[in-house]
Amino acid sequence: MEKIPWFGEGLRFECTQCGNCCTGAPGYVWVSRGEIQRLADFLGLSLSHFRRQYVRKVHGRESLIERSGGDCVLFDSETRRCRVYSERPRQCRSWPFWPSNLRNPRAWQSTCQVCPGSGQGKLVPLEEIEARSEKIRI
Ligand code: SF4
Repeated sequence: MEKIPWFGEGLRFECTQCGNCCTGAPGYVWVSRGEIQRLADFLGLSLSHFRRQYVRKVHGRESLIERSGGDCVLFDSETRRCRVYSERPRQCRSWPFWPSNLRNPRAWQSTCQVCPGSGQGKLVPLEEIEARSEKIRI
């Protein structure tokens, strides 16, 4: 029989669009070729133009560039919104249900400290949490 994880009853999450997860501490937003193409199309840029302006190579993978201070290059600091929200990469879509945040209740509590939408709002069922968590490789 399959073991039910500690979050078997689901977890609450509703994004407040505060922008915390797009700004601050340095990190990586990994993007696949397909995601890069979609983002380029969305912004009306050629693939090579988009790559030059928004993508960096890290250990053989590709990640969105960060501004100094750690903000994502696609985060609009005036409106405090993601410029490509509807087309955002898988890594952003799967937040906050990353395996590292789901390891145990303590890890989830830490996530709730940095993401005000976590632990609040609508109840996300186990199946959806697992589906979103599976899509990510960080
Ligand atoms: S930190 Fe959480 S609430 Fe804020 S924008 Fe990111 S996902 Fe939404």
